[in-house]
Amino acid sequence: MPFTTLTHLDCSACGRVHDASVWQGLCVDCGSPLLARYDLSAAAKAVDPKVIETRAPDLWRYRELLPVGSGEHITGFGEGFTPLIPAPTMGERLGVRNLLIKDESPLPTGSFKARGAAVGVSKARELGARRLAMPTNGNAGAAWAAYCARAGLSLLTVLPEDAPHVNRRECRVLGADTYLVDGLISDAGKLSKAALGPGDRDVATLKEPYRIEGKKTMGYEIAEQLGWTAPDVIVYPTGGGVGLIGIDKAYQEMAEMGWVPRDKHPRFIAVQSTACAPVVKAYEEGKDACDPWTSGERTIAFGITVPAPLGGPLVLEAVRRTGGTAIAVDDETTIKALHEMGAAEGMYICPEGAACLAAVRALRDQGAIGADERVVVINTGAGLKYPQTVDAELPVLPADGSVVPTFRDRTT
Ligand SMILES: *Cc1c(COP(=O)(O)O)cnc(C)c1O
Ligand SMILES: [Zn+2]
Repeated sequence: MPFTTLTHLDCSACGRVHDASVWQGLCVDCGSPLLARYDLSAAAKAVDPKVIETRAPDLWRYRELLPVGSGEHITGFGEGFTPLIPAPTMGERLGVRNLLIKDESPLPTGSFKARGAAVGVSKARELGARRLAMPTNGNAGAAWAAYCARAGLSLLTVLPEDAPHVNRRECRVLGADTYLVDGLISDAGKLSKAALGPGDRDVATLKEPYRIEGKKTMGYEIAEQLGWTAPDVIVYPTGGGVGLIGIDKAYQEMAEMGWVPRDKHPRFIAVQSTACAPVVKAYEEGKDACDPWTSGERTIAFGITVPAPLGGPLVLEAVRRTGGTAIAVDDETTIKALHEMGAAEGMYICPEGAACLAAVRALRDQGAIGADERVVVINTGAGLKYPQTVDAELPVLPADGSVVPTFRDRTT
């Protein structure tokens, strides 16, 4: 039995077919991202949800729908199958009775970037790549560094100077050749590209087709965890949009194979920061592609700071086709939601995930989400990676016991 049913790659814009047996970057005709295609009827014959449910709880349980051809190239740590956690107390505060958090914080390197790296690095290894390079705002570099170290591949990363220090440290300790640039992520991209020699590979967001395949496993997992169906709404913190495009692709594949009901596709809500919202702007202006965001403002939700997302047209198409929407949230509202969530549910989520909760509140108030709808929010990473989200100044008590600490009521 074949391990994968991968057949070829399609250009997401012009449809041109590309050979999947050799390394591919962007479409050779139009420069748009490529999408992996599978023989879905062969996959549906080879495996079904009942068989999948008996497999190990990691993302390779969907291996027929992943691009790697055999087990020997798989590089990993047992990643995937993260919990889908009910959040009833926070749900009540936001006005939705059925709120679920897809919690990606337990993944290696503390963010869902591990999914893209697991599949991207394994496939790069299978295709014979030796050296990879990428610009990164942080979490992607850390994840790819971890998997490259394990696979024995070289990774070169370039981070903007204002990227979080935790990510610089991760890239370093995980053995990547790590550089900072006195500029933006776009400048980092130019430099990491300039480092490429013959045979070296550019693995920037959507510049190779397999990172999205890793991220799509969130969609397979959500479906499986809900008994092979879709929630009404999926709320996604959108930077490059890879995860949203991937989850949408997963639901299309599952519908095609008869694994989920065809008439029940989730509505996608793309959440951005008001400091960098090219997708929201294009959505509101009715455009099919994003204009580059130029304000240069900063946000605490650095994972969604992508001023010129290559996948913008795909995100906009998925949001519109599914009847979803796009919305921007400011940092103050995001931090408030992050604190509320910690106290209400015991989860220290990342600001990107917190922005999604704030978006749910706003959309509930506008009537764009119903009180009884099943809402899945993706918490894309661990709050622990973002210590600056919480003020650590606390009252210091004298050691002589002259001031006694008191309980505060658990009302926040
Ligand atoms: C990269 C990142 C995002 C955005 O992911 P895309 O799929 O590129 O839109 C969201 N949250 C965190 C924590 C990230 O690291
Ligand atoms: Zn094309």
